[in-house]
Amino acid sequence: MYENIKKLYQLMQKCNLCPKKCGVNRLKGEIGACKTAKEFKVASINLHYGEEPPISGKSGSGTIFFTNCNLSCVFCQNYPISQLGNGNFITTEELANKMIALQNKGANNINLVTPTHVYPMIAETLFIAKQKGLKIPILSNCGGYEQKEVLELMEPFIDIYMPDMKYSSDEMAKKYSKIDNYVANNRIAIKEMYRQKGTLKFNDNDSFA
Ligand code: SF4
Repeated sequence: MYENIKKLYQLMQKCNLCPKKCGVNRLKGEIGACKTAKEFKVASINLHYGEEPPISGKSGSGTIFFTNCNLSCVFCQNYPISQLGNGNFITTEELANKMIALQNKGANNINLVTPTHVYPMIAETLFIAKQKGLKIPILSNCGGYEQKEVLELMEPFIDIYMPDMKYSSDEMAKKYSKIDNYVANNRIAIKEMYRQKGTLKFNDNDSFA
C-alpha cells in the first residue's frame, strides 16, 4: 500500500491523475483543471440515506463529498461544491478520524464522492484510517473519467466502484462537460473496475428495506 501511495503522489508532479493530463506540479501548489493542488477540501461528511438502496442500507452510507472535480458538467447537482469550491480544507489525519467516526455511527461503508482528482490523499487517508481500525467497505463514487494506471494503484484501497457512464458521444461530452475524450477513457476505466471487482454481489441475508 505504501508504494502505491508514493506512486500516486508522484503522478501529481506532472499531473496525469486523470485523462485531462494537465501536467502541472500540484505538489508545488500549481493547479490544473480541477483547481486543486495538494491541499484538499471536503464539503460534507455525513450518513446518507438516499444513495442506491444496497449502498445506504438501513443505517446509511458514510458519505464524503470532495470539493472540486476533474469534470465541468453544466448539469452538476453539486455545482457549488464541484465548480465553485465550497468546502473546508482538511488533513489526511483529520479525515481518517472522520472516517472512524462514521464507522462508529454505524455507516455501512465509506462513500467517496468525486474522488478522482484527490486519489493520492484519499489513499494516504485510508492507510491511516485502517491502522486506526477502519473496517467497513470503501466505495468510489466517481464520474468515470479515470486513468487505468491510477485505478490499478487504487486497487488495494477501493472495495466497490460506483462510476458514472455519462456519455456515449464525445460531442455531447464536449458540449456539456467540456472534455474531449470521455467515451474511450470511460470505457477503459469501466473495464478496469470490472476486472478488479467483478459483478455486484449480495449476501443472502442482506436487507435494504
Ligand atoms: S487531476 Fe486535475 S490537475 Fe490532474 S490531470 Fe486531472 S484535472 Fe488536471
